[in-house]
Amino acid sequence: MESRLERFREIIKEKKLLDSTLAILHWDIETEAPKGGQELLSQMIGNISLKAYEISTSEELNEIVEFLKNMKNELNEIDKKEIENYSEEMEKLSKIPPMEYKAYTELTAKAQGVWEKAKNENNFSIFKEYLEKIFNYNIKFGKYRNPNKNPYDVILDDYEKGMDRKKLDEFFKDLRENIVPLLKSIQEKKIDNSKYIDGEVSKCSQVLISRFLGEYLGFDFNRGIISESEHPFTLTVNMDDVRITTKYIKELPVSAIFSTIHECGHGIYEQGIDEKLKYTLLADGASMGIHESQSRFYENILGRSKSFWEPIYEKLQEKYTYLKDITLDEFYLGINDVKASLIRVEADELTYSLHIMVRYEIEKGIFEGKYKIGDLPEIWNEKMREYLGVVPENDREGVLQDVHWACGLIGYFPSYALGNVYSLQIYNKMKKDLNIEKILKEGKLHLIKEWLGEHIHKYGKLKNPEEILKEITGEGLNSKYYIEYLKEKYSKIYNLK
Ligand SMILES: [Zn+2]
Repeated sequence: MESRLERFREIIKEKKLLDSTLAILHWDIETEAPKGGQELLSQMIGNISLKAYEISTSEELNEIVEFLKNMKNELNEIDKKEIENYSEEMEKLSKIPPMEYKAYTELTAKAQGVWEKAKNENNFSIFKEYLEKIFNYNIKFGKYRNPNKNPYDVILDDYEKGMDRKKLDEFFKDLRENIVPLLKSIQEKKIDNSKYIDGEVSKCSQVLISRFLGEYLGFDFNRGIISESEHPFTLTVNMDDVRITTKYIKELPVSAIFSTIHECGHGIYEQGIDEKLKYTLLADGASMGIHESQSRFYENILGRSKSFWEPIYEKLQEKYTYLKDITLDEFYLGINDVKASLIRVEADELTYSLHIMVRYEIEKGIFEGKYKIGDLPEIWNEKMREYLGVVPENDREGVLQDVHWACGLIGYFPSYALGNVYSLQIYNKMKKDLNIEKILKEGKLHLIKEWLGEHIHKYGKLKNPEEILKEITGEGLNSKYYIEYLKEKYSKIYNLK
């Protein structure tokens, strides 16, 4: 057994090294590479992806895994979990006919270009046929994998283990019943606090503040960098090389602050994974939802609180000079200004989850045969009106705004909303262990990082999201804390009864 285990380790390490190579190529394409070099880089990515795929599906690896599966009781925790994860992935792939899988991959690769064109030209009809096919493939694949379940449930479980329509329906119902009326009463007040953060700051000063915030939060610059890109993201080469980006907009200088804090939340998670998981399949976040819980915890719960800024507001005013006549109290109102907007990625903390709900209801409706793809623009607008009270004037700002569906990322959106809910459940427990107000006021953020590291980060994928949540909070998904938090915070800010 030992020699097989050793060989297993070797093969997986080889695959992980290829994954790291791919990450560097992706990084290059999205940050520094000249336009003219992108074709070559795409080819290199295709080439190496194929090698990584061949390794994962090789007969040798399959045989070893089959053998080790039967020796489960003799394996240590990490090996056991890794074998389990690997078998699950293979099992999924094996149920889908390879030719159909290939056709689907080609379809989504092409669909991204079509989506871009449709968005630019504000013309849903050219994308419609592609979107229809993408949904149909997902429905078909879900049925292949488990004919006894609704295919949407099969897919939801891929992104967030243990998740299904029943849980999400309940969860979104809670959000709908609580956030929609809260938003309406805020809108009736007609207060605009955005004036407190309007201003211009040079890119140079913004870069300095981003760097400062990264250090302040505990992002390790010896094993990470902050760079720049069109859309902020975090990319992990491995736990010793975690790269985040932000976007510096001169006339919207607060944007870089919060995207930096958000991505640092992802980055600190990746850097905090236990060293012993390096080169294993478990050196990754537990799930997309848990990952978002970390970024949103830093961005919203900490970053949009007043205590967080108390020790560092003067520092910010030095670089963001337009804030010098704005008090901390006013700044706090500014960064928590609520405005129902059309675009998800620009949404504030309160309205964000409503955007996700619109997408969830649409996806679910298609899988259940209730909605037709051709009707999506109208359905989209109707739901935006109902929940957010705003209606897009065109599809570019409506149903065509996100690339996710074109990439085949269906069932992925709910993870964003789950991240919000998880973050509050985790925070609620953390408050019992730590005096967070005091920690923030004294600027001792390493204590928070250590707590998260100990309870979440170090495990990587060794535990699934349900296990992590249960161990920390003693319960499963519960939106109560999230809703209470929003109600309390925004009632205070907007003087609601
Ligand atoms: Zn994120």
